[in-house]
Amino acid sequence: QFPFGRRLPCDIYWHGVSFHDNNIFSGQVNKFPGMMETVRKITLSRAMRTMQDLFPLEYNFYPRSWILPEELPLFVAEVRVLRASDPSWQPTFIVKPDGGCQGDGIYLVKDPRDGRLAGSGHGRPAVVQEYICKPLLMDKLKFDIRLYVLLKSLEPLEIYIAKDGLSRFCTEPYQEPTLKNLHQVFMHLTNYSLNIHSENFIHSDSVNTGSKRTFSSILCRLSSRGADVKKLWSDIIALVIKTIIALTPELKVYYQSDIPAGKPGPTCFQILGFDILLMKNLKPMLLEVNANPSMRIEHEQELSPGVFGNVPSPVDEEVKVAVIRDTLRLVDPQKKKRKDAQVLNLPWVPSLQQRGWSEPAGGMKDKQHKHHSLKLSLKLKFYLKLGWCPSLERVPEPSESPLGAGPDAVRDAEATLPSLCLKQVFPKYAKQFSHLRLVDRVAKLFIRFLGVKGTTKLGPTGFRTFVRNCKLSNSNFSMAAVDILYIDITRRWNSMGIDHKEPGMCLQAFVEAFFCLAQKKYKSLPLHEQVASLLDFCECHLAALDERRLLWGWG
Ligand code: ADP
Repeated sequence: QFPFGRRLPCDIYWHGVSFHDNNIFSGQVNKFPGMMETVRKITLSRAMRTMQDLFPLEYNFYPRSWILPEELPLFVAEVRVLRASDPSWQPTFIVKPDGGCQGDGIYLVKDPRDGRLAGSGHGRPAVVQEYICKPLLMDKLKFDIRLYVLLKSLEPLEIYIAKDGLSRFCTEPYQEPTLKNLHQVFMHLTNYSLNIHSENFIHSDSVNTGSKRTFSSILCRLSSRGADVKKLWSDIIALVIKTIIALTPELKVYYQSDIPAGKPGPTCFQILGFDILLMKNLKPMLLEVNANPSMRIEHEQELSPGVFGNVPSPVDEEVKVAVIRDTLRLVDPQKKKRKDAQVLNLPWVPSLQQRGWSEPAGGMKDKQHKHHSLKLSLKLKFYLKLGWCPSLERVPEPSESPLGAGPDAVRDAEATLPSLCLKQVFPKYAKQFSHLRLVDRVAKLFIRFLGVKGTTKLGPTGFRTFVRNCKLSNSNFSMAAVDILYIDITRRWNSMGIDHKEPGMCLQAFVEAFFCLAQKKYKSLPLHEQVASLLDFCECHLAALDERRLLWGWG
């Protein structure tokens, strides 16, 4: 920890909340720039809506959602149409304030004209979402799943999923929503932070009982009831990959702005918390993605009347320690160096720093020596927690040179660690999902025309250049019409009050403009084919342009 600032470069930087240090020029940071913004309720809903417009069936794991206040009239109108087409549909909706967490400010409504919805125009923006009325119950209780996902790299995309997660239970038996029970949070909301205040909350030392259990214990129960657990897992994997595919375009825009290509900078990875609800028919539904999931392995308990203290939580420990241990194993810089050394057939000699030593310049003075030993013993405790056995990954005495351990010792140490709880799912299953990555390609065009490094918004000149270079204007679509399209869409997006800091067209507005152009050009096709065709068209013209520039030596 560097409470007073950091001086030396590190291999891995562990930031508490978000990516916040632009003075890192190497190594790896455990947060992506812009992740917090990208997974906020409204931004996530917009990204999922874009994907639902393109691939409605592939993205039906996210409940129908509308954004308040601006989509209130749309919400009311759409619900009216849906009701007219199916009079037996008796929906309930859940309203979630943007940027809220731990169930904060959430409420259920039956009537789209409920006064509180209109009221949110004056208050915080929110998402109103179809409420999943028939969740899978266990012991008559509603529960959700928290799964940990490691986004190890954005380009190329690398995703890992933890084999086990947490199941968080409600504390009152579930009933389908009625006007009478809508306000009963212990029945409808699974948040741990809410239910812990219920007198029915059960702290348990066992991972398969109580109000918080491991997901594997749920799978065991389901499997014993004859459920197809394999299919459930593959549905969950698909949900995670598709969700990340929906998020990557926005993340890439932030990434190039904070860590410009071609300049020295770190690479990033991040542990995400996916909140998933299982429906009665075992279909997993995404509730939200958490950029900063709690990694606490203790919970607060009343030890004696009025006296509260932190006690270990075996369920949290079982799941979370493995996630952090394996994240560190996967991003271990030594691993990469060992691999490189093997490829080059070099003798593997780790440096002091690689072995966890950072000898102060000018030798180690006595006081520093003591401090150093303390640091090492703390580090040892941490390693033990993570499952690194000291006899294998031995922390050397300060007097002892750590240079002795060779690749075999390290490989042996690795071999005795528990097998990885994080399983790679992408690129492993990339083939099945590559057709979904259309918006990623749109984002690539957007980034190309951004021009000024460090920006996330496209100016009018950039938009004109995009249209001109891709040869999109013609006698039916003049440059004046291009300007009008730019102004119309940009003004509307900027009036939604998301990000006024920078003027210009944000990625989502560009995506809307791109879809508009695609619909104009390829009228009769389904939307995803229109977009794919326009992408091919643009990419082809840009490739030809790049080739010409190369030939003429424009660089
Ligand atoms: P927060 O970030 O405040 O926890 P969530 O989106 O996770 O917000 O919602 C809180 C809880 O509300 C969830 O844990 C879940 O139990 C319940 N919930 C959220 N959305 C839905 C939904 N569409 N259908 C049913 N229950 C939901």
